Amino acid sequence: MSAAAVAIAAGVLSLPAPLPLRLAALAVIAGVAGDQAFRRLPAFDPLGRIRWHLPSADGVKRCALTFDDGPSPATAAVLDILAAEGVPATFFVLGTNVERHPEVVQRARDEGHAVGLHGMDHAKLAGAAADAIERQVSGVRRVLAQLGVTPARVYRTPHGYKSRGVFEVARRHGLTLWAWSRGVWDTDRPDPIVLVRRATRLARSGMVLLLHDGRGEEPQPDVRPMLAALPAIIRELKHRGFAFVRVGDE
Ligand SMILES: [Zn+2]
Repeated sequence: MSAAAVAIAAGVLSLPAPLPLRLAALAVIAGVAGDQAFRRLPAFDPLGRIRWHLPSADGVKRCALTFDDGPSPATAAVLDILAAEGVPATFFVLGTNVERHPEVVQRARDEGHAVGLHGMDHAKLAGAAADAIERQVSGVRRVLAQLGVTPARVYRTPHGYKSRGVFEVARRHGLTLWAWSRGVWDTDRPDPIVLVRRATRLARSGMVLLLHDGRGEEPQPDVRPMLAALPAIIRELKHRGFAFVRVGDE
């Protein structure tokens, strides 16, 4: 429990009210906090239905590169880097962006990468109703189907936010929900050296690294720091003996 939570609990318990009332107030606060955590913490699910790291594999160090919010005008450069390094990745795409850049999604598929679902647009789904989530998932699936691209059965919601409906829709579509174990805040566009350090410093086997080849639905996202850092991230992870896999393959 955090210091703030302890302070809040102590404050509630010291209120001039009967103890049962104070305990009831605490239970309500804990319930609200738990519900907020469920909606907004990407890997948090009391029932353990969200994947966020790769299972261990007989002494082989593994990691997965994942790219969210694409495709964008920068995605071809990401594919060039992955091809030069000979590593696969997983792209969690947005339907609106696939409509803008269809060919690069087909290229990603042709070059052996996994195409996963991120939604039709970048709507935040914390507490969203199942029908709104259904529209997100079926929308991006329809856009990919029109291109002849069969997506991997993996779904990552924008920001990792969720509601109970996310699980319902994922089950209906046979999708596994994926969060990540390492984010590097590349959309804040820090110095590429900072990105390399964040991505590699504490790298452990099973790491699912979150990167972005887009920025929500922005038509011209600036992902240059990520592009500059990506070759060094891959080489450093290779140097440490990591094998690269796509999420959902294990
Ligand atoms: Zn996103």
